Amino acid sequence: MKILVANCGSSSLKYQLFDFSRGEERRVAKGAVEKIGVAGGGARDHRAAASLAFEELRNSGLIQSAEEIDGVGHRVVHGGERFTSSTRIDEAVLREIEACCELAPLHNPPNLAGYRAMKELVPQAAHVAVFDTAFHTSLPAHAYVYGLPYEYFERDRIRRYGFHGTSHRYVAQRVAALEPAARRIVSCHLGNGCSICAIEDGRSVDVSIGFTPLEGLLMGTRSGDLDPSIIFHLIKTQGLDPVRIEKMLNHESGLLGISGVSNDMRDIVLAAAAGNARAELAIEIFCYRARKYIGAYLAALNGADAIVFTAGIGENSPDVRARICKDLENLGVHLDTESNTRARGECRINVPGMPVSMWLIPTNEELLIARDTQRCILTG
Ligand code: ADP
Repeated sequence: MKILVANCGSSSLKYQLFDFSRGEERRVAKGAVEKIGVAGGGARDHRAAASLAFEELRNSGLIQSAEEIDGVGHRVVHGGERFTSSTRIDEAVLREIEACCELAPLHNPPNLAGYRAMKELVPQAAHVAVFDTAFHTSLPAHAYVYGLPYEYFERDRIRRYGFHGTSHRYVAQRVAALEPAARRIVSCHLGNGCSICAIEDGRSVDVSIGFTPLEGLLMGTRSGDLDPSIIFHLIKTQGLDPVRIEKMLNHESGLLGISGVSNDMRDIVLAAAAGNARAELAIEIFCYRARKYIGAYLAALNGADAIVFTAGIGENSPDVRARICKDLENLGVHLDTESNTRARGECRINVPGMPVSMWLIPTNEELLIARDTQRCILTG
């Protein structure tokens, strides 16, 4: 069975081709079409980008024609409250995903543009939507209702939805395989976007990111938690309009805003090492905020059996992991300096025999999307 996984952003189409024949799970191709719709870029629109992707696959000899594809798994950011698991896309499902665009105006429309393009090119395949929010539909009400007048929840569905669900679900499945006794997991997805998730018996019970991907940890360009009064203060004192403030909070804040250097942790680490005090402060705030959320979820779970680091920063920066875990010993969290420094790929990084096990688990959202797609095909 050949399964294509598509992850479409507003200006990029990332894809991976999996071959699930003979009980194996082989990723046979990986590629991206960038700068969609940008003058001088790779493709005019998502339709052209999808055509380019198939051209690349044909040129590499991995497929002769699009007809060989049995299923296409689409990453869809927002599935609202309706989608609790991955779903085959038909007309009714499509309408419901469209209705979720209001909740994720930056993410869902390009996801859908990617779907439409793929559907046109591979009409015979099963198309499956895999939602970032689905894993968090298990949150209890006390974790997802905000402290607003209740009608904003009831009438307007303003609540915590959570994102990065596919990554946290992958982490939960890997921990279940590596350490079956670990029931309570704190999963730290630290990439460009960042979230920490509390997982109990394989189910998400709380997550740091909220109604939109703005809440929670400090991120590459997003502020994370802040006092909402700051927004009113800026409106009143500087006359900033909501669009300007939204842009500032989403694209000019976080690591970039504090350091003034970059949104990329590698650049910030280099700048800090060269003596840039704001870069150093950005790293410290990033790590402190992550430490606080780990503490919060240790409380939410009444202690954790495992803490996991994943995504670009979580997987690749031993220094950031060490700074986050600093002075957590009284909570049973003992990172092993040597295994943390040496860690590559899936491995354990806690001091042996300590109460909380710690893992580095490289995330693999695409594999999970491919598996879900296969499952939806096999179960009809
Ligand atoms: P996305 O959320 O876009 O999928 P990634 O998970 O790829 O992003 O994470 C991107 C982040 O990972 C960037 O901030 C990048 O600097 C960081 N990163 C990658 N490698 C390293 C490294 N060796 N040290 C520190 N940060 C790293």
